[in-house]
Amino acid sequence: VARTGAARPEEIRRHNLGLLLEQVHRDGELTRAELTQRLGLNRSTIGALVAELTDLGLIDERVPTGNERAGRPSHVVAPRADGPFAIAVEVDVDSVVTAAVSLGGEVLARYDHTLPVNGTTPYDIAERIAADVEDLFASLPLSARSVGIGVSTPGTVTPTGGRVEHAPNLEWRNEPFGTILTERLPQGIAVSFGNDANLGALAEHLRGAARGFHDAVYLTGKIGVGGGVIVDGKLLSGAGGFAGEVGHMLLDPLGPPCHCGSRGCVETYVGEQALLRLAGRTVPPSRESVAEVVRAARAGEPDALRGVRAVGVGLGRTIANLVNLLNPQVVITGGSLATVLELSRAEVEHELDVRAMSEARRTVQLRTAGLGDNSSLIGGAELAFGPLLADPVGTAVPPERADRRLERATRAAI
Ligand SMILES: [Zn+2]
Repeated sequence: VARTGAARPEEIRRHNLGLLLEQVHRDGELTRAELTQRLGLNRSTIGALVAELTDLGLIDERVPTGNERAGRPSHVVAPRADGPFAIAVEVDVDSVVTAAVSLGGEVLARYDHTLPVNGTTPYDIAERIAADVEDLFASLPLSARSVGIGVSTPGTVTPTGGRVEHAPNLEWRNEPFGTILTERLPQGIAVSFGNDANLGALAEHLRGAARGFHDAVYLTGKIGVGGGVIVDGKLLSGAGGFAGEVGHMLLDPLGPPCHCGSRGCVETYVGEQALLRLAGRTVPPSRESVAEVVRAARAGEPDALRGVRAVGVGLGRTIANLVNLLNPQVVITGGSLATVLELSRAEVEHELDVRAMSEARRTVQLRTAGLGDNSSLIGGAELAFGPLLADPVGTAVPPERADRRLERATRAAI
């Protein structure tokens, strides 16, 4: 059988440009010697790749930060401060965040808006995002170049079209959110979509608590509960991109009704609504009501503490199922589940001891999110940077041509 797909030198060069840019994007300042070692290429090849990425306006070489007074410091390669940026959007049940994120992962500017918990339509959210994107462009220098927009959504969503198949807590079903949003944005900007927890997993793997691990699970607790799974260094997407819906895995078929239409889902035991219920609160979930329970539990109030520990038991059972299925090196918890892990680690660990198979249980680490509440937002930026990192030559707009293109696109939108 003849094998096809042999790489030509041109393709190898473009692939290596992407690899080098990815290293600098992830780890920041690196010397040529470090890059030579990491990529396993010779010094002159690294020199040529650095020169080409410099010409594309993506990186530059400079004296390392904090080393200005040293005698003759070796220069480092780093993302260019005025290099291209990604626009990251995080849509949540009660909020929208829009941010500009630089190559290298620094948040340059951000807008946070709180939304009413009930009845928010895709149109409301698209209008909000479009206004914020316009403000972001206005706040950055005209020469700033955008690689595109990555949108994190709390539900199942198609990666390219942005059709939200089901976002239970927004009560959206089969909404053409991507089309509605794209119509309101400047023409020509690439927009891509991902599930919030999947993007959180991606970001935690790249820059957070799962860095350096090949097999990881990220769980995030808000009103809904999301999951993202990294297998062998890659995000597990499933056939349609909908994998990782840990919140709707079954814990008890006779359990409380869930927003998704089923009963006894993980979310009904470890989501924020469950936390409030188990802590004896009768108020609807909101940032304030959840923060109140957390404060009370930290202060030792018995009802609040009992609630957090009951959620810890549910979390432990959920993680035990995941450990048995996936044998991850690390499980990361974010949102309210980060606090639950902090305050009820004993309950979580006990459930793992009882329910997870011994070797996988013995080796798994439990950690809270390294990026705090920004995991999904940073993941949105990574989604937008994806094409540039995969092929810098085909994707990057050289600085001298970028200004006008962006200006035109922005003006057209206004
Ligand atoms: Zn459910």
